[in-house]
Amino acid sequence: MAGVSNNFNDELRARLSIVDIVGRRVPLTKKGKDYWGCCPFHNEKTPSFSVNEQKGFYHCFGCGEHGDIISFVMKSQNMQYIDAIKELAQIAGLKVPELRPKTPEQAAREQNYFEILENAARIYQRALFSPAGAKALEYIRGRGFPDDMLKKYRLGFAPDSFNTISGNFANVKISNLTATGLVRESTRPGGSPYDFFRNRLMFPIFNPNGQIVAFSGRSLDGSEPKYINTSDTELFHKRRTIFGLNFARDAIYKANRSIVVEGQIDAIQMQTHGFPETVAPLGTALTDEHLQMLAKSNRNITFCFDGDGAGQKAAARAADLTMALLRDNSDVRFAFMTGGKDPDEILRKTNNEKINPMRKIIDAAVPLVDFLWDLANKNYLIATPGGRTQAEKFLKTEIEKITDPNLKNEYSQEYDQRKFQQWHKWKKVGARGNASVGANNHLPLPNIDAITHKTLSEIASVYPELIEKYAEFLEKIGINFDTSNFKPQTSNLTSADAERFIVSLKLKNYLQNLERDKKELTLKMLNTTEPKDQKISEQLAFINSEIQKTQSLLAKITEI
Ligand SMILES: [Zn+2]
Repeated sequence: MAGVSNNFNDELRARLSIVDIVGRRVPLTKKGKDYWGCCPFHNEKTPSFSVNEQKGFYHCFGCGEHGDIISFVMKSQNMQYIDAIKELAQIAGLKVPELRPKTPEQAAREQNYFEILENAARIYQRALFSPAGAKALEYIRGRGFPDDMLKKYRLGFAPDSFNTISGNFANVKISNLTATGLVRESTRPGGSPYDFFRNRLMFPIFNPNGQIVAFSGRSLDGSEPKYINTSDTELFHKRRTIFGLNFARDAIYKANRSIVVEGQIDAIQMQTHGFPETVAPLGTALTDEHLQMLAKSNRNITFCFDGDGAGQKAAARAADLTMALLRDNSDVRFAFMTGGKDPDEILRKTNNEKINPMRKIIDAAVPLVDFLWDLANKNYLIATPGGRTQAEKFLKTEIEKITDPNLKNEYSQEYDQRKFQQWHKWKKVGARGNASVGANNHLPLPNIDAITHKTLSEIASVYPELIEKYAEFLEKIGINFDTSNFKPQTSNLTSADAERFIVSLKLKNYLQNLERDKKELTLKMLNTTEPKDQKISEQLAFINSEIQKTQSLLAKITEI
């Protein structure tokens, strides 16, 4: 196609999920290996439009439309090719880099950079075992790195000198050295180019193909910042580079999950001590680009954070970023280390123990659905109506980010149930309540009798906020209180009792409607001349299951 290089299109296809992109416009449901929805290109009511993530293609069995992520955006949004590329690049967090294929010059240039970085890594590796590197070597061995690990991860040492690199590549143009980020041009007039990394323990950063694209240097004398990374270059983009991914790829596939830890040393220690599927974001903060990269290989992610406040905050952020990538088969979890230890410290003490203590921490990781619920309960005063409202808003905002409509629905039902069961802890009403109502009993239908009316007006005077909360329902059953007319009173009815009373009324009302529908449908079924009307019997089955559910809910709230 005219314009953008095939490499770039491949990168878009590799970085973006076709299910995510199509899912933004077409609600998709997973059936078997594929995702299905109603075709956006022809009019239909039953889904014949399939999307295959592995192949990166969509296909409509109704109208024959077929294509990839790029043609989907072009056709569904009526866009020119180049605009579709731009739109996708924006979603992927990529700049459309060039409007023509990679030139031979550019390919040669990149090759040149790779060679410089590779040679630099060798220089740093040698320096680590030289007298100048003694302190660095002592430090990293002290952190539990035997020599074979140093070799595998190609750790090195940048001596405390301004020209370890800049003075060592006599035949290479300075502009090429600076383009790798290893060397910087002096800002002083007449000054010489100088090394960016000095007196640091060096960690090479690899691309997924195992080529070195950058370095991360850890200070050894306690100077801040503790880590410095190569600035972004043609080969390296910090926001979407994940440390350790080149080593972890196969393991992630085998383990069917990735573990994300906070630091590079932690990632290496985890990979070496039984968790080869571990990676770490580069730099301090996890970005949505990091997660998109990870999700491309596997959507089961266990995040491992420090148990302190900063770790909790980072976990909340990770959860927030993950919502948009969730699928119905994603397993996202959160593990926390307590006692201010990091994985590195925990793992180094494991040698003498039979069960890896890190294994216990990872196995105890909390699923995302519980983690968000805990967050809502921890961060808001759920004992108050205001706090519950805030917590509800928080959960709703997170759920809204889920793209799969069925999963979104499941999440909100799950939380509705938890809100009902945990936030409104109904107390026993004793003699006052309908304690005899059980799941199998025939339930009395709500007739708004004098007693009910009296109870409701008592509630309205003591807990007007409840009447407001359920105003819509109460109006529907013919109760309309003007709460401003009531003077505050006292009541031996607690707020929970009062709410319980209203909710039970609401459930009974729903039951009454269900019973009425059931009666109507049964009559219709009896009168129909068709041998068996499939639709009616389906509706009846649904109503019966709703009746059962409502009855058991009602039993629960009147029993507890
Ligand atoms: Zn179609």
